[in-house]
Amino acid sequence: MISLRDVRFEYARGGFSLNVAELAVPSGARAAAIGPSGSGKTTLLNLISGIERPRSGEVSTAGVRVDRLSPAARRSFRITKIGFVFQEFLLLEYLDVLDNILYPYRLHRELRLDASVRSRAHRLASDLGLKSLLDRLPAELSQGERQRVAIARALVTSPTLILADEPTGTLDPATKQQALDLLFEQCEARSTTLLMVTHDHGLLEQFGQIIDVEALGPTEA
Ligand code: ADP
Ligand code: MG
Repeated sequence: MISLRDVRFEYARGGFSLNVAELAVPSGARAAAIGPSGSGKTTLLNLISGIERPRSGEVSTAGVRVDRLSPAARRSFRITKIGFVFQEFLLLEYLDVLDNILYPYRLHRELRLDASVRSRAHRLASDLGLKSLLDRLPAELSQGERQRVAIARALVTSPTLILADEPTGTLDPATKQQALDLLFEQCEARSTTLLMVTHDHGLLEQFGQIIDVEALGPTEA
């Protein structure tokens, strides 16, 4: 599902570089990326999703060489093929729960909001216990409920890959496990590959693959 080889990346400003000799995450995997703050976990997700482009090397995601795509094609690829669960959930405060779940369909014309998408959104909402909350605004939700909206939004496009950047960071332990269970359950039901960044070492035994971002490649000057 994800394959990186001989990747070298640095930000235009310089100062930080991420080198990945080799990384492979198979289809259907449940992978966790760990590493201290500033080690490049978010940068790695950005390379995998095509938000950033490596200076050299190969990045292949869901069968596509994202490093070879134009900026516009990378944006399309990301919106149509990848589901994101962001750290702070990044819900739009002026949209109700249903419209937040459907938000990816406002971002890209390749994504068509038709009756089957609407019924999938309702099914996801119901699977995630959000059925009675569809017309609430994010401000009217608990943290755990906001988390579930973020999960539903990441899954609504039926992505083959979910990238989650410390999605349980702001949750209490019980809500955290609940959110994780839901994410696992939904990914499993849809054969979706999951790569999740986490600081929470207590969660790692639930993942089949652990990626230590600091150990990915030679860090040369
Ligand atoms: P992590 O997610 O592991 O905390 P990041 O991937 O966000 O780490 O950042 C890795 C390093 O790259 C940090 O030192 C950060 O300051 C730097 N960095 C992140 N984004 C940019 C950017 N757009 N331009 C320059 N440096 C950046
Ligand atoms: Mg980060």
